[in-house]
This record gives sequence, structure tokens and C-alpha cells, in this order.
Amino acid sequence: MKAFIKAFNKLLLRLTKKGREKIEADRKKKKDLEEKKFKTIKKQYNAILQKADKQADEKNLSERKRKNKRDSICPKCGSENVNDRIKRMQGSMRGEMSGHYTNLLLFGSGAIHGHTSSSFDTNEVNKCNDCEHEWKKDDYSYIYTRHVIEDKLNDIKYFLKDIKEAKDPDFDPKDLEEKFTSKEEKSKHLLDKAIDSYYIKYINDFWGETSTEVIEKIAKKYLSGYSKVWFFEEFNIEAIKEYTNLKTLDEFIKDEQR
Ligand SMILES: [Zn+2]
Repeated sequence: MKAFIKAFNKLLLRLTKKGREKIEADRKKKKDLEEKKFKTIKKQYNAILQKADKQADEKNLSERKRKNKRDSICPKCGSENVNDRIKRMQGSMRGEMSGHYTNLLLFGSGAIHGHTSSSFDTNEVNKCNDCEHEWKKDDYSYIYTRHVIEDKLNDIKYFLKDIKEAKDPDFDPKDLEEKFTSKEEKSKHLLDKAIDSYYIKYINDFWGETSTEVIEKIAKKYLSGYSKVWFFEEFNIEAIKEYTNLKTLDEFIKDEQR
């Protein structure tokens, strides 16, 4: 009996030891996976911001080049002998007004006493010294990373909206302007159109290496107000996976481990 109890206790200990080890191993596995997920999310998140940043830079550079060209070549005669008209005016008025420039040339001398002054930015013009032609300085708005992000999230939103409408289109056979004979026909037409649009290519090109979880995190951070509400109203992971190359985080991790 004593020997039996001894053996039983030994077995029990082994079992619980094994049990403990298993629990420990499971815990470690889970922790490793969580860490891996976090690392992947962080990597994808920063990669997409960098991508947007780069696109914003490229866009700003080409806009600046376009502006410089438009401001330095006369559109009428093609001459490059072009002056900045406001700069010359500024020079003659310096001393009297600083920081802001007066509107006296626009409103007459009375304005001088009224201290009417405003920035000349909006009145800046280019003047051609060869043909005297004057034209308004070109304006461009600076593109920030968040503009690119918003734009790219809009691709997803509009695409999913098109898909949703195509799957369940408004159809009224009594509507005199209705071009389709059945709801199914209309649905097929709209779905073909949605799939044939550029959205899929745009979405794959920009978001292809980003998991749907990270897209959600980006949208939560970069969209606000109504555009955020609207995005999440349309964001449908099943639909986006059906038509684009987009993957979930788990699919990315599975692919990495392969
Ligand atoms: Zn000219």
C-alpha cells in the first residue's frame, strides 16, 4: 500500500508538472503571438505613414515646379523676362507701412488716412517686361500627409459604397427614367461598373501591404467628425476582401510564418 501511494503521488506530481509546463508553454505562445501582432501592426502603421509622407512630398514638389514655371514664363509671348509687380510697389512704400501693405493703389489716396491696410498676397501679379502682360500669381495649397491619408481612405469608402449600392440597388419599374428591366439586371450592371473602376487598383497599390486592422487604426486617428462616421459606416471587411488584395492581420502573420 505504501509503495502504491508513493507511485501514485509520483505520477500525480509528474502530471501536474506536465500540466504546469503545458500551461506555461501555452501562456508563452499566446504572449509571443500578441507581441508578434503588435510588432506587425506597428510596422505596417509606420510604413503606410511613410508612404503617405513620400507621396505628399512628391506632390508638393511637382506643384512647386508647376507654380514656378507659371510665374516665370509669360503665357502671352513666352518671354522669361518677367517681374514680380508687388515687390516693386513694396519697395516704394517701405517705411510708411511695415508688415502689411496698404490698399491705397486699389482704393485711392483716401485710404491712406483711413489706415486701410491689408496683405498684398492676394493682389500679387506677374508682369512681363516684353509685352506688358500681367497675370495673377499661381496659387497652390500645400499637401500634408494627412491629406494623402484622407484621400486614400476615401478610395476605400467610395468603393465600398458603390459595392453596397450595386448589391442592393434602388429599383422602381414604374420610374419612367429607369433604364433597367429588373433589379438583378441593374445590380449586375452596377457591380461590373464598380469592379471596373480604378478604385481597386488604387486601393491595392496603396493599402496592399496594410492589414484591415491597421486601416481601421489609421482611419480612427486621421479622420474626424462626419468623415469618420461615414468611413466606418461603409467599412466592411468581408466586402473589401472579396474584391481587393487586402488582408487581415491574422492572414499577414500566417503568410509570414509560411
Ligand atoms: Zn509677354
